[in-house]
Amino acid sequence: MEHQKYERTLVMIKPDGIQRSLIGEIVKRYEQSGLKLVGIKMTVPTVELIEQHYLIDPEWRMKTGLKTIESYKKKGAKPPSEDPLVITEIILGNLKKYMTKGPVVAMVWQGMHAVGIVRKITGGTEPLTSSMGTIRGDFTIDSYEVSDIDGRAVRNLIHASGSQDDAEKEIALWFTPKELIDYRLINEAMLYDAELSGILGQ
Ligand code: GDP
Ligand code: MG
Repeated sequence: MEHQKYERTLVMIKPDGIQRSLIGEIVKRYEQSGLKLVGIKMTVPTVELIEQHYLIDPEWRMKTGLKTIESYKKKGAKPPSEDPLVITEIILGNLKKYMTKGPVVAMVWQGMHAVGIVRKITGGTEPLTSSMGTIRGDFTIDSYEVSDIDGRAVRNLIHASGSQDDAEKEIALWFTPKELIDYRLINEAMLYDAELSGILGQ
């Protein structure tokens, strides 16, 4: 098995992150964790790219639809439909509108447990309940309820891959192999070297 220091994940700063002038702050949060930035670009996504991106996980439609119905019922509210696939079609339609409204910044971060560490730094999907100290908890204020009433995607600043398998597929969708840089970061020795030799003089 390849060493976990090579694990990679895709992060995207969504259009609200750019418009809120949070690019630097968001990059800083991932950078200071010890992960290594190996690819970055600004682009205005097409509707086709956004659709491909969200449908990379074949389970996403069903999972997200079921999760949404459950959260409506938990609050004692009636979901917009009893069919999970109808619900996700609405969510996906709103995401396509939102994600193509302006530039996004796509990044690939590499390092030990990159997928899990990035999810932790990013915070839970719904800003109302994302923990303080996470990007979504600290920098935005949206909820599913209000975004659903207003008929728009939840403004949660970031996309971050949900699993290593999704990450590899998403990276291949957003970046060519040439756009990803294989380089050594001096700091990595402190994270990964077993011996830590060469710090003190002989
Ligand atoms: P993420 O990986 O944390 O972004 O969350 P998911 O993969 O579950 O969902 C992708 C995107 O779909 C989220 O960023 C939201 O924009 C949207 N979404 C997911 N779940 C819900 C939901 O229950 N309600 C609404 N309105 N949108 C949702
Ligand atoms: Mg996801």
